[in-house]
Amino acid sequence: MVFSDPYTPTRSYYECRECGYREATDSLASCPECDGRTRNIAVPRE
Ligand SMILES: [Zn+2]
Repeated sequence: MVFSDPYTPTRSYYECRECGYREATDSLASCPECDGRTRNIAVPRE
């Protein structure tokens, strides 16, 4: 059975708390731009 729930994103989004850098990835320990701390965010609504 394949999970294809449209409400479940296939990838997580991580956002840098320092500079706002965003990347769609499963894991992002630190920001590649400023080496700041990142946080996992929900699906961005833009
Ligand atoms: Zn950053």
